[in-house]
Amino acid sequence: MTSVATKLRVLHGDLDGCTACPKMIGPVVHGPPVASGILLVGQAPGPREGSFGRPFAWTAGKTLFRWFEEALGVDEETFRAKVYIAAVARCFPGKAPGGGDRRPDREEIARCLPFLQRETAILKPKLVLPVGTLAIEQVLATKDKLNDLIGTVRRATYHGVETDVIALPHPSGASPWHKMEPGKTLLNRALARIATHPEVARTFGSARSQSSNR
Ligand code: SF4
Repeated sequence: MTSVATKLRVLHGDLDGCTACPKMIGPVVHGPPVASGILLVGQAPGPREGSFGRPFAWTAGKTLFRWFEEALGVDEETFRAKVYIAAVARCFPGKAPGGGDRRPDREEIARCLPFLQRETAILKPKLVLPVGTLAIEQVLATKDKLNDLIGTVRRATYHGVETDVIALPHPSGASPWHKMEPGKTLLNRALARIATHPEVARTFGSARSQSSNR
């Protein structure tokens, strides 16, 4: 029987060869083929991720992994080794005219969607962590405001898989939402819900205390 990691490697090969979006700037960025019950879904790589060859490799990632280290007791490398990190789009969209990274457009999201569908079908995650409003909209099919979403655990059917969903705000400096109230409190509530989720305990086990004691 083909293992989850092998199926993910095949998928990554397809991703690496994808040039379907004319406005996107390569290379395609993805993490390793982690057979995980937790699926994190970001928006799209920024300008630096391509050269590092992994998602959340720059400033937004520093903030994101600090959140996880403080709340879960796992360091960045442990988190990357145990959680599958995907995104709504896998190439850098370029800069928006007004500054900041361009949000992937509807066609680009649709072109990249089959990769996420395949990843979800392979992993059958018990917990999905959408990061930022675009990923939240895609995972929960909702336009609910962050104030109503962050800090809750939602039950959803994501690409045919029944799963818990705990949304997080985007950690980039572009939005101050998570730095001001009620964002700060709601973010801490969301991280506490992640920390106590059974799939997190199952995924990290003793790695939590070991990596936090390093
Ligand atoms: S964003 Fe997705 S669909 Fe578009 S070129 Fe990159 S990998 Fe392919």
